[in-house]
Amino acid sequence: MGRMRTWRFGFDLDDTLGAQPKMWKFITEALMDAGAEVHVVTATHHDKATDEDYAARKDQLASLGIAYTDLYIAEPPICDSKRKYAKTVGLHWFVDNRAKNVAAVSQECPVALFIDIFDESTVGLG
Ligand SMILES: [Mg+2]
Repeated sequence: MGRMRTWRFGFDLDDTLGAQPKMWKFITEALMDAGAEVHVVTATHHDKATDEDYAARKDQLASLGIAYTDLYIAEPPICDSKRKYAKTVGLHWFVDNRAKNVAAVSQECPVALFIDIFDESTVGLG
């Protein structure tokens, strides 16, 4: 069974979605309203991603108010795990605050963007 023919956007969580939650909430809701998939592509601090990791990340996303269609928790080596996920699901677009992850995912994904942390309260829309 093929995946739905739609745009698939991937977002890192720590220091990406979590750093500017109001901005990303706006963007991810607009993407989902337009029929796109929103993949949160985060990582575990352990050797393996457990059910507890998934539960904690879901709670974190709920507290940020960010909606998504898919959640993936990469395991070490993180950059390779994120790259493989991007290939497996066919991400078209990905953003992450770590250049190493962006470089790895860019091998499988047409658009892979680095974003630096900024204070979203300084942009005057909050
Ligand atoms: Mg990050």
